Amino acid sequence: MPDKSAKRPRERKEKRPAKRRLGLAGRVTLIAICAALVATLAQWIATPILAQGEVRRQQVIAVTSGVNLLADVSALHARAGRWSEVPALVDALTDGLPGGQSAVFDADWKLIARDGATSALPPVKSLQDLAADREAVLDGDGRVFAARVLEGATGTLGYAVFSFEPRPALQIWLGIVLLNAMVLVVALAVLAPFLVPIASRALKPVTDLERGIRKRDAKDKSKLADSSDDRLLKPLLAAIDEVHDRSEAAMRRALTMAYTDPVTRLPNRLRFVSKLDATAAAGAPFHLVICDLDRFRQVNVTFGPRVADMALAAVAERLRACASRLQTSGFFLGRIGADQFGIILPSVEQSAITEFLMAAEKAISESMMLEEEQVRITASFGAARAPEDAATGADLLKLAEVALKEAKGQTGARRAFFDKGLLAKARAKSKLEEELREGLERGEFVAVFQPKVKLESGELVGAEALARWRRPDGAVVSPGVFVPIAEELGLIHTLGKSVMRDACFAAAGWNAKGIVSSVAVNVSPHQFDDPDFINSVDQALDDSGLDPKLLELEITESAAVADPDRVARIMWPLRNRGVRLAIDDFGTGHSNFASITRLPFDVFKIDQQFVRALSTDPHAPAIVEMILAMAEALGQETVAEGVETKEQADFLLRRACTIGQGYYYSPPLPADEFDAFVRSYRPRPADRFAA
Ligand code: C2E
Ligand code: MG
Ligand code: MG
Repeated sequence: MPDKSAKRPRERKEKRPAKRRLGLAGRVTLIAICAALVATLAQWIATPILAQGEVRRQQVIAVTSGVNLLADVSALHARAGRWSEVPALVDALTDGLPGGQSAVFDADWKLIARDGATSALPPVKSLQDLAADREAVLDGDGRVFAARVLEGATGTLGYAVFSFEPRPALQIWLGIVLLNAMVLVVALAVLAPFLVPIASRALKPVTDLERGIRKRDAKDKSKLADSSDDRLLKPLLAAIDEVHDRSEAAMRRALTMAYTDPVTRLPNRLRFVSKLDATAAAGAPFHLVICDLDRFRQVNVTFGPRVADMALAAVAERLRACASRLQTSGFFLGRIGADQFGIILPSVEQSAITEFLMAAEKAISESMMLEEEQVRITASFGAARAPEDAATGADLLKLAEVALKEAKGQTGARRAFFDKGLLAKARAKSKLEEELREGLERGEFVAVFQPKVKLESGELVGAEALARWRRPDGAVVSPGVFVPIAEELGLIHTLGKSVMRDACFAAAGWNAKGIVSSVAVNVSPHQFDDPDFINSVDQALDDSGLDPKLLELEITESAAVADPDRVARIMWPLRNRGVRLAIDDFGTGHSNFASITRLPFDVFKIDQQFVRALSTDPHAPAIVEMILAMAEALGQETVAEGVETKEQADFLLRRACTIGQGYYYSPPLPADEFDAFVRSYRPRPADRFAA
């Protein structure tokens, strides 16, 4: 299969228009030019600001030298009585100093000559004051004025006034800028052709290196530092090599972390799925197996996450050991979920896979000692084949899940291979699941009651509440079908509470009518997971007003022995209130009697299979006798389920069984029919001495 993801970036790269990039030397030249421009600009701005004082001083010098010259020469003429020479002098001076204005007055401030005059002179008084001070200049009307006294031997001969119009600062500044700009442009135009080669030559080792690094093959593991002997570059390259090595190691670590499960060190789901996809795409036949640990959550709750993690690692090891014993050309094991492992097993016979599954099932179920705790785990397995069942990884996973679900529902060997029938079954099951949810919301679940009779007297002593699902089409579904689904969907809590309330209210009603009768309610072990369980039983008793002594809870033997401590912890508060407890289906759970006697039970219910087998199986009477003897020794009540014949009832009474329940007395009845049954009931005592 073509690797599309790998191809796409290359295509995009090719389509992009080739852009000419500036080389390193070009960039350095550009930077140098920019720096020159910035520096010049800064100078253009700063110089006029800084030079303002100097400009002012220059202006003062210009005006004072102008007036001194005018005064000195005019005084010479005045002293010689040649006032007529003065106008020519004034003209000449003004021509010599463009922008200057000259004026000469006699001692009475009568104007002798004036030139360059475009504007009025300041008033005589101001000029008189100005002439009195050699240092003073006068700013007026955009001009700078200075005045001098024309000294004669006999005193003041007259006055000379010179004024100067300075050029506006902006004009001066623009002049400087233009000049500088011209110089700069010329300088750059002349220097640029030299600058680029100089920069190129100076930077050649670096540019060569840059080119080398760009062209370098990703797989090239040689050191950059070895590629140059440049005194300055070598340490730099060594540093780059080090950073590169470090980042490569970090990348490798990150990749490992992204694809490995830290608890088991196995490939994680991401990696497993990509391997599965690749294996499926390769087309060779193989098996995909999903191994799911049963009730692993319980291991977490009971022993804590640390032990649970160790258990997972141990399971991974056991799976690996079993898989490596298979005669195959390699397998791939991964952790694909919290309590799930996936195994890809290349082409082998289905019988070999079955053997592997049996070995793995056995290996996993062997108890493990972890942190001084004895942990027991069981697992279920679902398997699918490629390419027969499906040709893609995703489909195979789906089908193996379907097989797994089937395996989980099995009693005994919990392993299944996918076949098409399972898919139809799985679809029907999901439909049923949906209907069950809706049925629960619509209140389609009701309790029916099966009477319990004292064998000796035939007297009615109580009833067992059994759940029924009355579908809208009138069909009645048995609990054997819907209880396991409700348990799986977590709906058993709601269902159990509803049956509990129905039973308590029904029994309270019978007792109010004078029929003293207890009621037994079945409790699923899943209901113990509900923290509200004890409270909900209390609530049903309080709301119905039923005497707690008349309520009996039935827990199957297998649930009781699976976790006796937990059962005891939950049952004690209820028992302290007077509620009685029964072990249901006794004889089927392979319990060791010692652990059962630790539990607070009052009643043993002998499973109906033993009662049914009484007449057919030669061993059955002995088993029933043993159970009854044990119950008698413990002083506990015994209820035989599934009593269908008088012979069974007689036998049970002979063996000291106290109570019977079964079709011989009555099938389970809806609450109102139960009332009618009680009213018309004729006791049918069993006969202890019947042959
Ligand atoms: P169980 O508690 O052992 O209930 C006795 C089962 O035997 C009932 O089946 C009853 O109808 C059936 N039975 C009674 N007498 C006879 C007889 O003479 N012959 C035969 N062949 N069968 C008889 P049912 O009602 O189908 O219940 C099956 C199981 O479902 C129950 O076994 C109990 O474990 C479970 N169950 C029923 N109701 C509930 C419930 O409300 N909650 C929970 N958790 N489980 C329930
Ligand atoms: Mg029961
Ligand atoms: Mg039973």
